[in-house]
Amino acid sequence: MPLSSAYRQRLFPLLPELATCFGTPFHIYDEAGIRTTGAQLKQAFAGVGRFREYYAVKALPNPRILALMHEMGFGFDCSSVAELQLARAAGARGDDIMFTSNNTSPEEFVAAAQDGGCLLNLDDISLIAKVPQMPELICFRYNPGPARSGNSIIGNPVEAKYGVAHEQLLDAFRQARERGARRFGLHTMLASNERDCRYVVETVRMLLDVIAWVSRELSIRFEFINMGGGLGIPYQPEDSAFDVARLGRETQALVQDFEQAQGYAPAVFMESGRYMTGPHGVLVTRAINHKDTYRRFIGVDACMSALMRPGMYGAYHHIEVVGKAPGADDVAVDVVGSLCENNDKFAIERPLPPIADGDLLVIEDTGAHGHAMGFNYNGRLRPQELLLRADGQVELIRRAETLQDHFATLQFEPKVWHSGAH
Ligand SMILES: *Cc1c(COP(=O)(O)O)cnc(C)c1O
Repeated sequence: MPLSSAYRQRLFPLLPELATCFGTPFHIYDEAGIRTTGAQLKQAFAGVGRFREYYAVKALPNPRILALMHEMGFGFDCSSVAELQLARAAGARGDDIMFTSNNTSPEEFVAAAQDGGCLLNLDDISLIAKVPQMPELICFRYNPGPARSGNSIIGNPVEAKYGVAHEQLLDAFRQARERGARRFGLHTMLASNERDCRYVVETVRMLLDVIAWVSRELSIRFEFINMGGGLGIPYQPEDSAFDVARLGRETQALVQDFEQAQGYAPAVFMESGRYMTGPHGVLVTRAINHKDTYRRFIGVDACMSALMRPGMYGAYHHIEVVGKAPGADDVAVDVVGSLCENNDKFAIERPLPPIADGDLLVIEDTGAHGHAMGFNYNGRLRPQELLLRADGQVELIRRAETLQDHFATLQFEPKVWHSGAH
C-alpha cells in the first residue's frame, strides 16, 4: 500500500540525505505513525472493560520499538528466550509478558519463570507435567480444529502444530488445577494478515463460548481471553484496511452478553505485531544495476536478508522510486537482490517509473516481519535500522551486520572430540 501521506511527507524529503549519511540499505520506522496506531487501538477498545495489547515481539524485536510499546502501556507476546530478554530489558515484568512458546524446551520454562515470571501460555496438554512449577495463573492455546478454517500463512487449524485440541481442553484445565493453578486464561491464534474484521469477531465469540463451557464443566472462572494477533494490513494499493473500531465495538457487545449470562467479564487481550508496526516501516535501497535479458531487471543493494516475505510467501510490497512519480512511461521490471536464489526478488514484472542506477527505491510496509525474518544465507548481511523520531530526528537503532559478526561463530581453532578420551 502506498505509504500514509503523513509518513511520506515526513520521510521522503529526508531520504537523499539519510542515504548519504547512513548509506543504503536501511529500514526506517516512523515513531509518530506507531504512536497513532497504538492510540487508535486503545480508543477502539476503550469500551471493553479491561483490554490490553501484547505486542508480538517477533514482528520487530528492536529495544527502541519495544520501549515505545511499553510507554503506550502495552505488554509483550514472546515465544523464545531471546524475546523474553528483550521484553524484560524494555521494563516488562510479570503479567506484562505473555509467553506463547510451542514445542517448548526445559530452558524456555526456566527463562519464563525468571525475573518475576510471566503469563504462561501452554501449547499442549503434555506440557503440564513438564512445567517445573505450575504458576497460579495458567493459560492454554486453543486449537479449534475443524470448527474453524485458518488462512494461507498460518495454515488450516487441523494441520497446524499449535495448540490444545478441543477434546483435550477440559482435561488440560483440570490437570493444571490439580497441579496448583487457580487462575485461568484462554488463548488462540488462528489467522495471519486477516483483514476481515468478521473473522476476528468470530474468534472472540468462539473464545467466549469455550470459556463459558469450561467454566460450567469445571466451576472455574476465566481472567482473560487472548484473541491472538493476525490483524491484517493493506499491502496492495486496492486492499481495504482492517476495521479496528468495529472489532472493538463488536468485542464490547460480545463481552457484555457474556457478562449478563455469566455474571462476570474476562479481560480481553490481543497480540498484534503486524497491525501495530507493519505500515510504519520501509526498506530503502539503491538501484545499482539494470539488466535487460528476457526480462528487465533492476538490481538493488538490498536482498532477502533484509526482507523475506516476497521470496517466502510471494508477498506484495509496494515500491516507490524517490523523485519519480508513476505514470505513462512506467516499465515492468523485476526488482532483485544479489542472492543466488531466483526467488530473491522484491517485485516481479512490476510497472515502475524508469529507474537509473543510483535511484533510491522505497519498499513499503516492512515494519513487521521484515528485518526480523532476514537470514544470512549466501553470507548476505542484514541491514541497519533507523527510527524517524516524533521530534524529526533520525536515530540509528541497529547497525548493519559486519563480516566479523557473520564469522563470529566459526571455530578457527580446532575443537575436537577424541574417541577414547576421558
Ligand atoms: C506471530 C504471532 C503473533 C503476531 O502475529 P501478527 O500477524 O504480526 O499480528 C501473535 N501471536 C502469536 C502466538 C504469534 O505466533
